[in-house]
Amino acid sequence: MQTTLERPPARKKAESFIPELVYFEPAALDYPKGQRIMEWVKETGIPFRMTTSHNRITNLPGDSELEQYKIAKRTLVVGLRKTLKFDTSKPSAEYAIPIATGCMGHCHYCYLQTTLGAKPYIRVYVNTDDIMDAAKAYIDERAPEITRFEAACTSDPVGLEPITGSLAELIEFMADQEHGRLRFVTKFHHVDSLLPLKHNGHTRIRFSVNDKYVIKHFEPATSRFEDRIEAAAKVARAGYPLGFIVAPIIWHDGWEEGYAELFASLSEALPKDASSGLTFELIQHRFTKTAKNVIEKRYPKTKLEMEIEKRKYKWGRWGQGKYVYPDEQAEALRMFISERIFEHFPDATIDYFT
Ligand code: SF4
Repeated sequence: MQTTLERPPARKKAESFIPELVYFEPAALDYPKGQRIMEWVKETGIPFRMTTSHNRITNLPGDSELEQYKIAKRTLVVGLRKTLKFDTSKPSAEYAIPIATGCMGHCHYCYLQTTLGAKPYIRVYVNTDDIMDAAKAYIDERAPEITRFEAACTSDPVGLEPITGSLAELIEFMADQEHGRLRFVTKFHHVDSLLPLKHNGHTRIRFSVNDKYVIKHFEPATSRFEDRIEAAAKVARAGYPLGFIVAPIIWHDGWEEGYAELFASLSEALPKDASSGLTFELIQHRFTKTAKNVIEKRYPKTKLEMEIEKRKYKWGRWGQGKYVYPDEQAEALRMFISERIFEHFPDATIDYFT
């Protein structure tokens, strides 16, 4: 029988994302970024189509819903961000800054499964200047208080960075904002283009990590743990504030060994000079009834435990509540993981457990 501590079969380094199909809104080609992406698409030989709106891609190939979902995850849509009113993004930041929507990862538990509904394809926005102007207005409104923007609420922007370069633009913009800060989280390692940028310490890059069981069973099509840590060391050396998000924390057979091993290997792999000022954010696994239905359809063989009877119902702000672990289990997870973090990283800060 396989135990949770056995090494998972070797996984290959994740290549940069190359979509199988790209849609362009005609107006996107009026922007340099849109033109650049079009050139790359043509050079790479990726089939492309035009679309009237990035919100209305209805003719995706695929015979079944599941097949269309898989194809959507390999489909890129290049358009303009029209809604420039930002959503709030508690607890990690004041606002979500929208540079992309959708992700090529296949994490079974991902909340994009439900929030993106029938539009799981990946949208990137070329009008970054408009987005930065809107961010500036939010910063000015709250100044002299610091305003934090989360760039990974609806996507994993690092996985898309080789195509868009949007994070680089945001990082350099935020470097000059006395009262603005940027943050994003990723499960990808494509950070090399970000290393030489001027950031002034105004951007915190966090890597999403988890124990081997969770990465092996629930995070296909993302970068390997070792590659995420190697990238973390690089960004720390480039002077970026660094953090880790452990999410979702999952109660499974062997979770104590699994999470103990996670922090031991994190501390072993992370160079000592990369560990100062580290932050951790801890998020226990949660799901809604809608998410459970969608996940069971899209990943019918998933081992993700979503038994409502074993969970506690937590009322949500927008009506639909979530199922979290009962208090006793949540507290055991919080205590155990916090202790392991301080054992290996005594100077780190735990921002929150939720
Ligand atoms: Fe979702 Fe993040 Fe996984 Fe992408 S990498 S599927 S955004 S959890």
